[in-house]
Amino acid sequence: MKEIGHWINGKHVAGTSGRFADVFNPAIGEVQARVALASPEELNAATTDAARAQVKWGATNPQRRARVIMKFVDLLNRDMDKLAEALSSEHGKTIPDAKGDIQRGLEVMEFCIGAPHLLKGEFTDSAGPGIDMYSMRQPIGVAAGITPFNFPAMIPMWKMGPALACGNAFILKPSERAPSVPLMLAELMQEAGLPDGVLQVINGDKTAVDAILDNPEIAGVGFVGSTPIAEYIYGRGCANGKRVQCFGGAKNHMIIMPDADLDQAADALIGAGYGAAGERCMAISVAVPVGDETADRLIEKLIPRIEKLKVGPYTAGNDVDYGPVVTAAAKANILKLVESGIAQGAKLVVDGRNFNLQGYEDGFFVGPHLFDHVTTEMDIYRKEIFGPVLSTVRAKSYEEAIGYAMDHEYGNGIALYTRDGDTARDFANRINVGMIGINVPIPVPLAYHTFGGWKKSSFGDLNQHGPDAFRFYTRTKTITSRWPSGIKEGASLNFRQMD
Ligand code: NAD
Repeated sequence: MKEIGHWINGKHVAGTSGRFADVFNPAIGEVQARVALASPEELNAATTDAARAQVKWGATNPQRRARVIMKFVDLLNRDMDKLAEALSSEHGKTIPDAKGDIQRGLEVMEFCIGAPHLLKGEFTDSAGPGIDMYSMRQPIGVAAGITPFNFPAMIPMWKMGPALACGNAFILKPSERAPSVPLMLAELMQEAGLPDGVLQVINGDKTAVDAILDNPEIAGVGFVGSTPIAEYIYGRGCANGKRVQCFGGAKNHMIIMPDADLDQAADALIGAGYGAAGERCMAISVAVPVGDETADRLIEKLIPRIEKLKVGPYTAGNDVDYGPVVTAAAKANILKLVESGIAQGAKLVVDGRNFNLQGYEDGFFVGPHLFDHVTTEMDIYRKEIFGPVLSTVRAKSYEEAIGYAMDHEYGNGIALYTRDGDTARDFANRINVGMIGINVPIPVPLAYHTFGGWKKSSFGDLNQHGPDAFRFYTRTKTITSRWPSGIKEGASLNFRQMD
């Protein structure tokens, strides 16, 4: 059985805790490797080495650091096929989707090449007599990132790119369900010239996470995953005096106005609802058509599109629209929620429960589901299903539709389909959700903007990537200096004014 360990001080290192987790190939439902789960001692030793390595890396000029990242981007492009294959085999997503996962991480790395510019401080000449005032951004030291299974390439890069570009050392604790790609990224970073110890990849579970949260050498923690864990990490990390940002779960709505182009909206719902088997934090899982006529026409357009979806293993190439979900437990949870929807009175218009793929009977495949007449108290509406299940909640008016989204506990992303500019503008202004799409189904901001939800989808002040990431991974220092030093003003006990 293949054993996956850690990446410490520039080398693959076997785990010493004696604890392991199974890593599946979800398409065939078989264990393909086991991954080591780090002990607190392993995590702490790797952190001490990282703190030592950070001193030199933090003092390396930002342009040199950016060059390492530039080279890494080249290597990522060189190895794209190999990375996508490894990613799909552990996650289950199709190869084109895996390449999209890598590409959206790569774009953040490209943004990080701008570190010399992004790290420039501010300067005020002659703020007072002989006085100049300036600020500088300095690395926080050692930062850690705890990442989910559903984007095994993109999210580790969203974390490590800005952290490293800012001169920090970085401890990456990837998902134990998809650990191979993060280790491959670390190898490429070394090949690109990153000094040993600056990036450590420590595999593990709650034990490793708790060790991160309690380690005094770690100054900042970035987390992406489900909301209960996000809340836990935010609370414990902050209580330990760390800078923490946590991004949690989602229940993204798409509101379809009567004037919308319904073919465009239906196509968008198919991609955003069923792509990656619904295992995206920006997936649309709730369709809110406004008016019964819009709802009836939308459902009519969705059914044939859903029935045409091809579900299968990533090895089938372009013949597949989406693959299996990540584990048998994830599949069981999705099917349990589908049953709850039926029991609570929703109408199952497309039933994917009995989906079966010849030759892949043990794979974790879930057929596509479409519910109509879902109401807001049902579990399928309140909970994140994280599977290929789209719920339709009918609204009588625009106000009722946005009210549903505003009242939902999650606020990651949302989309509106309309041809009316007034409605679109009002929507963008009033909605209490972090990322908005107007006639765009999955409004994931590009690398140079920032990514983050509202309400229970995000904890902390700053977003991921873009300029916010450079704020999160640096501390600001403001210097007031007077030259020549010999100016004599006499002693004053008053609070000094610059005039
Ligand atoms: P998860 O919360 O189960 O795991 C995320 C990370 O936390 C993993 O590294 C895992 O090892 C660790 N972890 C798990 N249980 C823990 C515990 N009890 N204590 C400490 N650490 C623990 O999430 P997942 O299933 O890997 O990912 C799917 C979730 O991530 C979904 O809810 C999805 O919406 C969310 N997500 C959010 C965003 C975003 O930007 N908001 C992006 C991607 C995924």
